[in-house]
Amino acid sequence: MPKEIIWVGTPFVLNFKDQRQFFRSLESQGYEVLIDDCPAYLSEDELIKKIESATAVIAGAEPYTDKVMGKTPDLKIIARAGVGVNNIDIPSATKNNIVITNAEGQNSSSVSEHFFGLLINCTRRIHWMNEKIRKGAWREIQPALVPLKEQILGIIGFGNIGKLVAKRAKAFEMKVIAYDIVQDQQTANQIGVNFVSLDELAKQSDFLTCHVPLTPDTKHIVDKELLEKMKPEAFVFNTSRGPVFNLDDVTEALKSKTIQGAGIDVYPEEPPDYSHEIFTMENAVLTPHMGGRGVDAVRDTINHAVNCVDDFLKGKKPSTVINHEIYAD
Ligand code: NAD
Repeated sequence: MPKEIIWVGTPFVLNFKDQRQFFRSLESQGYEVLIDDCPAYLSEDELIKKIESATAVIAGAEPYTDKVMGKTPDLKIIARAGVGVNNIDIPSATKNNIVITNAEGQNSSSVSEHFFGLLINCTRRIHWMNEKIRKGAWREIQPALVPLKEQILGIIGFGNIGKLVAKRAKAFEMKVIAYDIVQDQQTANQIGVNFVSLDELAKQSDFLTCHVPLTPDTKHIVDKELLEKMKPEAFVFNTSRGPVFNLDDVTEALKSKTIQGAGIDVYPEEPPDYSHEIFTMENAVLTPHMGGRGVDAVRDTINHAVNCVDDFLKGKKPSTVINHEIYAD
């Protein structure tokens, strides 16, 4: 019988010297594991070539479109080594009988820490001062540093990451409000978070942070209309998915001082269009989609994806299936 082929597309695995450590359990069962050198962001045709004989993939951000899944008849499971599944056409996967899983909760700590990195970098202007001091500027210009204590943090998306952000914000003595279409009132009470409308959240927040999946409803949830409701001293943050911000509107708001600053990890297209004005804005702190790249998160998301594939190949339902319909009888 030919071996089942498992293709690994997540570039995060390349962070580890011993990359095969994650896949020994699969290899010991006779599966062939192909770790790709993962050039950033494959085209559909490149991806089809790479996975055409694979039964399973451990996926990064590659485009699992209808075209790709229509041309990979051996493919039975796509296990995302991450949380967002917006790079996968879920209805098409279901139509093609391909199980989709994600690594729910496995990188929440990392993204939450990344958010605080951006937040403190913005409020204490660390990136800016770091550049100045290297040029011999000793307090030549004294920027006003913004405190976190007693400031209002507004969270859009009170899920795994949003909750951790809220919990950690409390250690800074911040007040936390949240907006979500599903209200986990019990956790909100435990942490001390009040749910408010999106409108209220925009009006009250000193810092507004997005932790929602990318869906038609969350696309451009932070746009001109929302930004104009905010305080001029407010900051906005996006470590979720690029299109959750209308980046043109955020850039305009930074230029016109409608808001004070922004911290951004994710972009409308990735890699981004570097000619976009956001890359010239001094009041924005920008990182290249690294929120989920803490070494703990990389390890845990890959291990989780491996377990999903392993369960699936053993005929068990993986723990974090997205398209449950496949298992409906
Ligand atoms: P989660 O599913 O635990 O939480 C998402 C929350 O958003 C849920 O509570 C859900 O009810 C809420 N939500 C959905 N639609 C909404 C809407 N229209 N309005 C308000 N709330 C809405 O997911 P998570 O683990 O917290 O991750 C959130 C997102 O962060 C992921 O979907 C992913 O896109 C992104 N992410 C980014 C990185 C990174 O590297 N920057 C890493 C991991 C995850």
